[in-house]
Amino acid sequence: MVAVLASSAVPLAAHYDLGMLDLDGVVYIGDHAVPGAAAALSTARESGMRLAFITNNASRTPEAVAAHLTDLGVEAGAADVVTSAQAAARVAVERFGEGAPVVCLGGAGLLAALVAAGLSPVGVSDADGGGKAVAVVTGYGPDVVWRDIMHAAVRIRDGLPWIASNTDGTFPSAAGIAPGHGVLVDMLNRFTGVTPVVAGKPERPLLDETVRRMGGERPLMIGDRLDTDIEGARRVGTDSLLVLTGVSGIADLVAAPPHCRPTYLASDLAGLSVPHPDPRSYAGETGPEWVVGAWSARVADGRLTVEADGAPGDTDDAWRAAVAAAWDHLDRTGDVADIAGLSLPRRARPER
Ligand SMILES: [Mg+2]
Repeated sequence: MVAVLASSAVPLAAHYDLGMLDLDGVVYIGDHAVPGAAAALSTARESGMRLAFITNNASRTPEAVAAHLTDLGVEAGAADVVTSAQAAARVAVERFGEGAPVVCLGGAGLLAALVAAGLSPVGVSDADGGGKAVAVVTGYGPDVVWRDIMHAAVRIRDGLPWIASNTDGTFPSAAGIAPGHGVLVDMLNRFTGVTPVVAGKPERPLLDETVRRMGGERPLMIGDRLDTDIEGARRVGTDSLLVLTGVSGIADLVAAPPHCRPTYLASDLAGLSVPHPDPRSYAGETGPEWVVGAWSARVADGRLTVEADGAPGDTDDAWRAAVAAAWDHLDRTGDVADIAGLSLPRRARPER
C-alpha cells in the first residue's frame, strides 16, 4: 500500500458530504470543548457537509451525547449520534433477527441500543432469562458486577456467540485515564479463548452503520487517533483527516505504517474549511526534499528537519511537509525518522 498525504483544491467540507467525527480529542476533551471546535463545525456545515458524531463509548445514550454536544455549543440531535452500542445492536439483529433474546452486559447506552434495534435484552443468569439467550453483547458499564461477568464468561466459553461494542484499552474518566471495555474483553478472551465480533473503531460496523444511517456519498472520517479512527477509515476505504488536538502527535505520525496514515492532516477542525496543498518532492543534496506551501522538510542522517522558505503561511503545512518526508523515509529505508530537536509551529488558537 502506498499512503501519502493527499491534496484538495477546495475546502474538505465542500468536497466531502458527510463528516464522521470522533468526539473525544476532536470535539471535546472530557467536559470541555476543544477550542474553536463549535465554530469550525458550524462553518463546515455552511459549506454543505453533514455531520455525524460517532463514539466507541457504549455506555452513554445518543440523547446524552447530543445533550453534551449542545452544552458545548455544537448543534446536535440524538439522530446525529452513532455509538458503538448501536453498531453492536445492528450486528446482533442482522445475525439473529428481530426479537432475539441477547444477554446485555454493559451500561444504559447498550441496553437502550439493543431495545431500539428490536432485540430482547435479558440478564445473564438463568433467573434473568440468560438460559434462552442466543448471544452475549458486551460494552462498558460502570455498574457491571463480577457475578454477571462470571456468568457471561461461562456462557461464552460454552459456545454462545459474543459481540463486543469496542476494544478500547483506556478511556478518559473523572478519575483520570481508566481501563476501557477492551480490558474486560481481554479478560474474557483469556478465560474463554474466544475472540468477539467487535463493532467499534477500528472495525467496520460503526463506520458502516454511520454511512448507512446518514447516507453520505463521500464520507470523511475525522479523528485524533491513528490506531482507531484512521486505521478504521482505511479499513472501510474512507478518506480521513487527523486533527492534532487529541492523542496522536508527531511521534506517532512519523512512525505510522501505511494502514494507519490519514489522508489529510490539520492542527484542528478549522482544517475542514481550507484547501489542502499538494506535498511535492524534489531531489535535494542529501536526498528527497518535501515541500508543502512555504515549508520544506527532509530527513538527513536519519534526522527530520523542517524550515520555512520566507513567510510562514499556514503553519499546518510545516506538519504536512514533515510527515510527508518522514513517511517517504520510512517507506524507503524501514527506519523511523529521528524527531529529537524538531520544533513544529502551532497555529495560534482562539481563546477558550
Ligand atoms: Mg478520540
